[in-house]
Amino acid sequence: MLTAGSGTGSGDAAARGAIRRNNVSVVLRHLRRGARSRTEISRDLGLPNSTVSKLVGELVELGLVTDDERRRAGGIGRPHQAVALRTGARCGLGVEISVNYIRVIALDLPGGVVLDDRAPVEHDRRDHHATLDLAADLVAAALTALRATGTAVTGVTVATPGHVDRDTGVVRLATNLGWSDVPVAAELADRLGPDAPPVRVDNDARLGTVAEHRVAHVPSLLYLTGEVGVAGGIVVDDTLVLGAAHAAGELGHMPLDPRGAVCPCGQRGCFETMVGLGTFLSYAADATDPLRDQHRDLEERLALGTARAAAGDARTIRAIDRIAADLGLGLGLLVNVLDPAVVVLGGYFSHLGEALLSRVRAEVTGRVLAPHAGGCDVRLSRLGFTAAARGAAETVLDDVFTDPASFAVPIP
Ligand SMILES: [Zn+2]
Repeated sequence: MLTAGSGTGSGDAAARGAIRRNNVSVVLRHLRRGARSRTEISRDLGLPNSTVSKLVGELVELGLVTDDERRRAGGIGRPHQAVALRTGARCGLGVEISVNYIRVIALDLPGGVVLDDRAPVEHDRRDHHATLDLAADLVAAALTALRATGTAVTGVTVATPGHVDRDTGVVRLATNLGWSDVPVAAELADRLGPDAPPVRVDNDARLGTVAEHRVAHVPSLLYLTGEVGVAGGIVVDDTLVLGAAHAAGELGHMPLDPRGAVCPCGQRGCFETMVGLGTFLSYAADATDPLRDQHRDLEERLALGTARAAAGDARTIRAIDRIAADLGLGLGLLVNVLDPAVVVLGGYFSHLGEALLSRVRAEVTGRVLAPHAGGCDVRLSRLGFTAAARGAAETVLDDVFTDPASFAVPIP
């Protein structure tokens, strides 16, 4: 929130300092929506031009914004000098540890991807050390590459499935990884050494929701992502719903079929057992089919599946139809309860394309009481499997936007 910088009459230097720091942060956060001229910032935030000029000057000195891009607002009149977040100067590193792969993504302040690397992973369910060794190797390589280009890395956030204690960085329970009480933040920090930036851990679906919300531009959103596990996140009034125990969003464990398959969580007929990646693959192909070869890259395998569907392969089309019907069952329930403006289908769902989407839309419309599903727009994620790592990187950058003065970077 913007704070008035004058008229208090208190003359308290500490309070004025706090107000200025807050206003610097407000201007930086405003620029997260895109480049603006000083006049536009002044108008948008209701601050005097002179104040905006001073605040922008501070941000330029901190090395966080640049001032040199010229554009003509609305295409007419004098060119305005636009202020923009500086590209490539400072980044957040997001790491997703999933059942099939580990992915590392670095985002700079404007949200540009400055690094994207991934490796397939085979988890030893009795021993998490090999997985964290691989994650540490990928992060170390990323840190080396980013430092070589002069990009300052603010921090590392790791996204994992399951129940995560964000305060301690411990993964309490991730059934699909076979993890319980794994101190991921501490173990990764230990492997990376004392020069590495701080490491935090959060739930993958929650971080994916953060990334999707940032690109969707709607105040209420439901995100559902599918891999081996199925999970999601709920945004209401531009706020991520965390729940009393910070465990909200376990959409994959809604028991929808009392006679269904047993889920890794111990219940029967969870949504995840009906629409998870393993279920889709078993519908679509025999065990020896390349589609189910875990040594192959998951995105390549899904491309193979969609190519088969496009070529009219009956088994693949039936598999997509079955998944779509069951997705419609669960989403219909959720849309009736939450009435979101948008439902985003992420993870492997987004790779199945329009064939899945059109069927899911029809199912949801048929199950939601409000006419035309209350106007709810069901869409495929454009971020796909990158959402969790991107959201992780975004949350690292939140620190910079909250307290810019602590994250100055040298200007070349
Ligand atoms: Zn379950």
